[in-house]
Amino acid sequence: TTPSVRFTTGTIRLEDDRRHVTLPVLGTIRAHESTRKLHRRIAAGTAVVKSATVRREAGRWFVSFTCEVERADRTPSRTDTVIGVDLGIKHLAVFSDGRPTAENPRHYDTARRKLGRLSRTVARRLGPDRRTGQQPSKRWQRADAARNRVHYRTANLRRDALHKLTTSLAREYGTIVVEDLNVSGMLRNRRLARVVADAGFGQIRRQLAYKTRWNGGTLEVADRWFPSSKTCSGCQAVTPKLPLRIRMYACEHCGLVLDRDENAALNLAALVKRHVAGSGPETENGRGADRKTPPCGAGGIEASTPH
Ligand SMILES: [Zn+2]
Repeated sequence: TTPSVRFTTGTIRLEDDRRHVTLPVLGTIRAHESTRKLHRRIAAGTAVVKSATVRREAGRWFVSFTCEVERADRTPSRTDTVIGVDLGIKHLAVFSDGRPTAENPRHYDTARRKLGRLSRTVARRLGPDRRTGQQPSKRWQRADAARNRVHYRTANLRRDALHKLTTSLAREYGTIVVEDLNVSGMLRNRRLARVVADAGFGQIRRQLAYKTRWNGGTLEVADRWFPSSKTCSGCQAVTPKLPLRIRMYACEHCGLVLDRDENAALNLAALVKRHVAGSGPETENGRGADRKTPPCGAGGIEASTPH
């Protein structure tokens, strides 16, 4: 990964103008973005800076602060609601309650051609070679930097889309149900791999886990083998096979026809509704949502301030 330096001792301070930070050895440096959010917490006594990390990424310098943060107790705006979220291939996410489908942030796909072109340019330049000790040419370095910038921007766009989605879900719904997708298993399937990685399934799960905790909600993870796609959300009949290319769910038993992912989202939401409505602990170990939000790292401020 990118090289970084971490400071754990010495003066680490956010200046009151909310534009400068003071670090050991480096002194006072102007920040590109306002430090307002963290500064306000420190001033209010709800955050204490433990360390600072400086790193360089795609030609920009970043400083991030590891803090101990006291979070106010929050409750989601609609505490009693349950939403099933089907993380899809075709769409980023499909919801059980009629909330508009979140489109896949396929920035990578659009940037891919550009990236491919830049990569070919890099390949034509005289690059470094560890075996011969060949130093990269100036032209190679320039082309490589240009390629990295496109990579970097793509990743940022994607991360932003995922954060916006998970934040709005965690703030609104009391209970969010997702599927325990076998992401690493899917990554082994090469055809799915790029799209899945692009959609950042693992990221969504991780973000929902800590954001539901921050907002006082619950994340339920359905069992990996729960047949959310193959079950009819109308009559609960299970279809033995449903290849990915079939986008509509058509039930042979009750004649229900609806979008495949919408059907899956409805089944996920129903899992919890059934669980909450009734039968108590005996449903605990059925093939259903039987895990609460997995423990994750203590809540900190997830942010870094560009130079
Ligand atoms: Zn049916």
